[in-house]
Amino acid sequence: MELINKRYQIQGLDLLKLSEKYGTPVYIYDAEIIHRQIESLKKSFEAVNLKIKYACKALNNISILKLFKYYGTGLDTVSIEEVQLGLMAGFEPSEIIYTPNCVDFQEIKRAVELGVVINIDNISILEQFGHEYKDSVPCCIRLNPHIMAGGNYKISTGHIDSKFGISILQMRHLQRIIKNDNIQVIGLHMHTGSDIVDIEVFLRGANILFEVAMEFPNLQFIDLGSGFKVRYKEDDLITDVPLLGEKLSKVFQDFCKEYGRELELWFEPGKYLVSESGLLLTKVNVVKTTPATVFAGVNSGLNHLIRPMMYDAYHEIVNLTNTEGPTRLYTVVGYICETDTFGWDRKIDEIIETDILAIKNAGAYGFTMSSHYNARLRPPEVLIYKGKDYLIREREKIEDLLRNQIELDFHNL
Ligand SMILES: *Cc1c(COP(=O)(O)O)cnc(C)c1O
Repeated sequence: MELINKRYQIQGLDLLKLSEKYGTPVYIYDAEIIHRQIESLKKSFEAVNLKIKYACKALNNISILKLFKYYGTGLDTVSIEEVQLGLMAGFEPSEIIYTPNCVDFQEIKRAVELGVVINIDNISILEQFGHEYKDSVPCCIRLNPHIMAGGNYKISTGHIDSKFGISILQMRHLQRIIKNDNIQVIGLHMHTGSDIVDIEVFLRGANILFEVAMEFPNLQFIDLGSGFKVRYKEDDLITDVPLLGEKLSKVFQDFCKEYGRELELWFEPGKYLVSESGLLLTKVNVVKTTPATVFAGVNSGLNHLIRPMMYDAYHEIVNLTNTEGPTRLYTVVGYICETDTFGWDRKIDEIIETDILAIKNAGAYGFTMSSHYNARLRPPEVLIYKGKDYLIREREKIEDLLRNQIELDFHNL
């Protein structure tokens, strides 16, 4: 989002005009930023055979999936429904990796039928997989290297208490099961969490995987998951992806030499690819002064963007209507009937009622985590592509709340 002539724009389109055209609240995504992020990842890892599998739980609108397909990435999916969406968007099954957690074996079988790469994250499922398919269907193994990482306990997945992955301490048990049914392991995977700033954490995890990999002779790829941290506020520390690319490529090349073959290096970023591309535009309904603070109450809430309340996430908020100041201190809150805060004590250009506020970094885990709480409708989604705006999801209507509900007629029961 650029500030040009004191008006905020995306690819030359005025955001205030877009807010008039589509109404508020509305999610707006900038395809150029998605493209920029893909290219920066590719460039950082150009020394190795990199494959990007976009973690589509971050933002899974069908047009966004098609955009990723068009830009040439693969897909990381965590449910059979995401697999189906990916196939509908035109991805080849071989481009999709399916990394579920605690799903039943029927869902795994369904994914095998659909032909996607299966990533198995527990011993019980691996046993069932082996008995069912023997060496006829290859798979990837999700390992848990027991590294504490990530910006928030809720988004850390690689530590000892985590439910994710097969513990590296269970390696012997794992090998027994693999040998017993001659399971063909073509990939090793780890994903230690989100928002990892420290490059050493990636390198430590990678080294553990490389060590273990020597025991798997049929590998085609190593999948290091994700966890890249992006900038949510100006002084945020972020993952230095170019430096990570440089360091990791080198150890990966060394590993490949030792392994005896060149393998593919996979990453599955979600947030890194789409977070900065997205904005949630809201309108200020009420400016309310209390003895403690000045609230700016907007026409959206945790039902549309839950990250601030769920993860204590910081999302920068700017006033699109007034960009001239003076700045004043506001607590920006939503309209949901419980504590529902987008940002505490924010310095924002003076707000009056009906001003349009933009909440930044709303591309990842924004719309996909939205709900109908308080019976509120979900907002539309708009994609800016090559300087034009495209509606990619309509604003919901009251009928959408009642869809699939069955009304009982109690007078006749
Ligand atoms: C959520 C998830 C990702 C993406 O994480 P980000 O922090 O959004 O990049 C990647 N891989 C797996 C298996 C995931 O569950």
